[in-house]
Amino acid sequence: MNITVLGGHKEIGGNKILVEHKGTKILLDFGMSFSQAGKYFSEFLQPRKCASLTDFFEFGLLPRIKGIYREDYLRHMNMAKEEKDVDGVFISHAHADHAQYIHFLRFDIPIYCTRATEVILRVLEETGSNTLSEFITACEAFTFYTNRKGTLSRVTRKNTDFVHVRDIEVMEAYQRVKVGSLEVELVPVDHSLPGACGYIIYSDAGNLVYTGDIRFHGSNQELSKEFVKRAKAAEPRWLLSEGTRIDSKERDSEEGVKRKIAEFIAESKSQLVFVEHPIRDLDRVTSIFEAAKENNRHFVVNLKLAYLINELDDLCPFALDEVKILVPRKSWGLIDKEGIDSRLVEQDYSVWERGFINRANCITYRELRRNPAKYVVSMSLWELNQLTDIKPSSDAIWIKSSCEPFCDEMELDEERKRNWLDHFKIKEYFAHASGHASGDEIRAMIKEINPEELIPIHTEHPELF
Ligand SMILES: [Zn+2]
Ligand SMILES: [Zn+2]
Repeated sequence: MNITVLGGHKEIGGNKILVEHKGTKILLDFGMSFSQAGKYFSEFLQPRKCASLTDFFEFGLLPRIKGIYREDYLRHMNMAKEEKDVDGVFISHAHADHAQYIHFLRFDIPIYCTRATEVILRVLEETGSNTLSEFITACEAFTFYTNRKGTLSRVTRKNTDFVHVRDIEVMEAYQRVKVGSLEVELVPVDHSLPGACGYIIYSDAGNLVYTGDIRFHGSNQELSKEFVKRAKAAEPRWLLSEGTRIDSKERDSEEGVKRKIAEFIAESKSQLVFVEHPIRDLDRVTSIFEAAKENNRHFVVNLKLAYLINELDDLCPFALDEVKILVPRKSWGLIDKEGIDSRLVEQDYSVWERGFINRANCITYRELRRNPAKYVVSMSLWELNQLTDIKPSSDAIWIKSSCEPFCDEMELDEERKRNWLDHFKIKEYFAHASGHASGDEIRAMIKEINPEELIPIHTEHPELF
């Protein structure tokens, strides 16, 4: 078996691993490296779609391997036509550092993942603003069609004949699929995103275990323990192990985060509580939901989170009807005006948002102003402009339940947030647990699985392995 780490070596994320055995080729994850991409691109210096492949090759953001990239891009960027040369891509979870560059893959490559991963990728595609997120469907780019007038027009998503549905193969927990000479088992793990899994790959040359991103302190820690058990039973020749926190001794606990949030809410007495959290971390979202409930408060979510909860359906531990949806004032802000036709109000919102602004559980800033003691509000740094509508009183609190900034851009966002909080005299508290196992836990896992060869990945410190 040949294992090539094309991305994720000596860095956190950007995982792309090519596994070859007797003519069978599979990829484990196809993610974006934030650190590499951040060297060349920023919010205001975005990759150009027309040259994305060539630019990404230039800077080593995508590996130059044949038979995996979409034909419409190759054609437009003057690269030779290629035959399909990979049998499947196995995605561990829907975080961008593992899945973002699916966008560039040929439409006919099967993509294997869990049901929750499929849902999250679809939600990202439908609600995101990123032009490089064709994960589930892909519209043929740089293509013209003959319109009714007989002249040429550019193909858009409205030309449904040109929209391809990717071959997404949803796998159940512990299901095995045969791909050429390999057999791949999907094994769920605990991580800060629903649907995370690792893989065990069986071959006559020995077995390979891939952890994906893993932790042992979340609400699904039993899954990670079962993963270790199965990985050990496979007597692997190789172990691809993540090591985000290999240098950290700190033991985290999601249960502890929930307790802390509940205490902060209790201490806030009659004032409004905001919580900043990773929006798709369902574990955290559930912790906040339960902490709010313990304090007889409603959890208030934004439209994006409402959409995700609705799409996750039975994969989410609570229903959308059990929370309130905050409908923001944006664009013309017509939601705030009396007696305006709902079709006109609707136009303030994206098409995907429109099904979530007229529900019985929708509220606006007015209700938060009226009854601050009744609510715990999910709020991100991109929604701070809601505060001028809400006008929270000076004893309102903000609970930061997400990781510390790890780059300059995030530092600046954090500073800007602090200005907003200072302005409204909102006090900030902290409660967070990582999505990754600590160094001791990773070492214990490796010892238990006991592979012949260890390949560190998703870590800045491979030497510590
Ligand atoms: Zn990751
Ligand atoms: Zn992750």
